[in-house]
Amino acid sequence: MERKYGESLISLLYPRRCPACHDIVSKRGEWICPECRDDFSFTRSPVCMKCGQELDAEEQELCYDCSRGHRDFEQSTALINYDSTAAASMAKFKYGGRREYADYYISELVKRKGALIAGWRPQLIIPVPVHKSRRRERGYNQAEELAVRLGKALHLPVRSDLLVREKKTIAQKELGPAARQHNLEQALRVKQPLTGLKRVLVVDDIYTTGSTLQACTRALQAAGAEKVYGCVICIGRGPS
Ligand SMILES: [Zn+2]
Ligand SMILES: [Zn+2]
Repeated sequence: MERKYGESLISLLYPRRCPACHDIVSKRGEWICPECRDDFSFTRSPVCMKCGQELDAEEQELCYDCSRGHRDFEQSTALINYDSTAAASMAKFKYGGRREYADYYISELVKRKGALIAGWRPQLIIPVPVHKSRRRERGYNQAEELAVRLGKALHLPVRSDLLVREKKTIAQKELGPAARQHNLEQALRVKQPLTGLKRVLVVDDIYTTGSTLQACTRALQAAGAEKVYGCVICIGRGPS
């Protein structure tokens, strides 16, 4: 009872914002305005068997990038195509303090991709880490916000302290894919051996070139993890 009262007081003081229009959600108790529900473009099959991005043709198995680049992770899935609505939503989620958007993203992710993820039988969820100074600036790590909610929904443990980013990396977008991956790999550190851990799920907000997931996979495998899977909210569409 008391908790409920507390929650409604919070929602009165800080009304929930819509991840699509960024206004106060038009219907109380919802995570998105009913009229904004179709604003995001959810990924539809056929999708790349490796990274989960949409493909043009059914007979294609992999996207252009995955068919050429080396991927050590088993498979990754993505919820939303990265268009202007998604970009604006992600920007507010990452830099604008709107961590509550994670509630909506994860509820949709579980609804649309939950069976696929459960089929991988992950034993542990690990968020892509940010450097602690960046976390301090933003007040949170957006990937961790996602991971914690996903763990709760799927009843899986989440560890945010195992994989850390020790060095501040140069802004990734200024680098090419190979340099990006090398840059990140140098900065990642796994804090304890993962021997015996068979299946790990890495969670992030956006998949662009795949270099982040690849770098995390290599670090986790070097520490003893066997199979690494990925799951992101947004994915850009490359050439096919
Ligand atoms: Zn809205
Ligand atoms: Zn792909």
